[in-house]
Amino acid sequence: MNNDVCPKAVNCPIFSGILKGTDYTEVYKRLYCEAGEAGRLRCKRFQVAKVLGHCPDNLLPNSPKSVEEIIKEVQNQ
Ligand code: SF4
Repeated sequence: MNNDVCPKAVNCPIFSGILKGTDYTEVYKRLYCEAGEAGRLRCKRFQVAKVLGHCPDNLLPNSPKSVEEIIKEVQNQ
């Protein structure tokens, strides 16, 4: 795996779960998962997991919610 690929890619639902095989998967990969550090900085999944150590399975990289909102929601569950 080269540095352009997110270190979470192997276990991330974008690759292996809810979006597997959908038309969106390749787009998300290109914009976020295989776009180096800039892609990870844009990814809500990556940013939430950086703080909490995990992230809801169904959260999309381009969630309209802020990272802070998502973290609050997860902590209140
Ligand atoms: S969706 Fe985000 S956390 Fe998952 S592999 Fe792509 S960049 Fe990494």
